[in-house]
Amino acid sequence: MNYTTLAHECLKRADELAACTESPGILKRTFMSEPMQRVHTLVRGYMQSAGMQVRVDALGNIIGHLEGKGPKTFLTGSHLDTVPDAGKYDGMLGVLIGIAAAQAIGAHNLAHHFEVIGFSDEEGVRYKMPYLGSLAIAGLFKQEYLARVDENGVTMADAIKNFGLNGREDFKSAAYDFSQVAGFAEVHIEQGPVLEAENLALGAVTGLVGQSRVKLFYRGLASHAGTTPMRGRRDAFSALSELNVFVEKYGLSIPNLVATVGMAQVRPGGANVIPGEVYFSLDIRHGDQPVLDRATEVILGEAAAIAKRRGIDMQIETQESQAVVKCDTTLVNKTASAMEFHSHKPFRLASGAGHDTAIMSKVTPTAMLFIRSPGGISHNPIETVTVEDVAAAIEVFVAFLRSL
Ligand SMILES: [Zn+2]
Repeated sequence: MNYTTLAHECLKRADELAACTESPGILKRTFMSEPMQRVHTLVRGYMQSAGMQVRVDALGNIIGHLEGKGPKTFLTGSHLDTVPDAGKYDGMLGVLIGIAAAQAIGAHNLAHHFEVIGFSDEEGVRYKMPYLGSLAIAGLFKQEYLARVDENGVTMADAIKNFGLNGREDFKSAAYDFSQVAGFAEVHIEQGPVLEAENLALGAVTGLVGQSRVKLFYRGLASHAGTTPMRGRRDAFSALSELNVFVEKYGLSIPNLVATVGMAQVRPGGANVIPGEVYFSLDIRHGDQPVLDRATEVILGEAAAIAKRRGIDMQIETQESQAVVKCDTTLVNKTASAMEFHSHKPFRLASGAGHDTAIMSKVTPTAMLFIRSPGGISHNPIETVTVEDVAAAIEVFVAFLRSL
């Protein structure tokens, strides 16, 4: 099999899918939108020409089935929806590479049946809730989600019906019986700069970083910038400034930790007024849960200590966390072995972004194969990949599937 030819075909298909958009001039394609119908027509054709049987489930996931020895099924897939003004490869490339692998392998040649899933929603743009497709497949979709409304007041239940699917009570039928599933592996662009910096085409993903998200207030005292002496001020923004320097230093001191104050609203916001209040966010991420938990504790502890020293009140408005997701050790090792088999360094890294794999990990063993993102750019129309890297990814993914 000529993997370069398959890679060229993947890129041509990515262009065809990118032409299906709901906003002229930019790529935007959301859950159950009209252009998603055209994407289904195209993807159905690609899957059929790879010898797959195609079905669409109750939540709009399109699934291609390649007969193997069975009885279990191994799954791959990624998402077919996009963010507004998206690139052509985030999500779609994983689906296209799964189809290319099926085409390269052919029916009855794998130990398991093989299914490629084009998830209907991962980005969560239309209903402000991500992972709708994978939640349904994992059996974690809840009835109450169907009542959510989009910005035009269309309920999710109606959107599903308008797409030509039943939806209402039927969503449970989208769930797989995971006693019959051997695992899930997702191929995805890295969306970051690590592989490019390492001069590598591919990476085996060990897991998805966990995240702490905190929103909080510092409340001091607003007063006249001219008449209030420096000593004794209760300047909320100065307190945050001190904290932000600490956050940066601390982030630099722990390997692979990232910590960011991404949002800060200074009030009242007058040039001649000492800032009495600041509302701000903390975003802390790491691939190891104990390190993440400790970092969150240390940063919030320092935030409180700075406030106390400066006579500022600190109030935590919301604190949410997304747990670290670990990929399956056996499948990660098989991914790395498949890379080595084709003379790639078996480089491992954690994913800094969320993926369908995060949901699938709750119900089945998972792995991910990352493809280098030139420039490290994603969620942007300049997002790109090289044909050589895509060919390498197909070849390695085929070796991985054969090793199962
Ligand atoms: Zn994605």
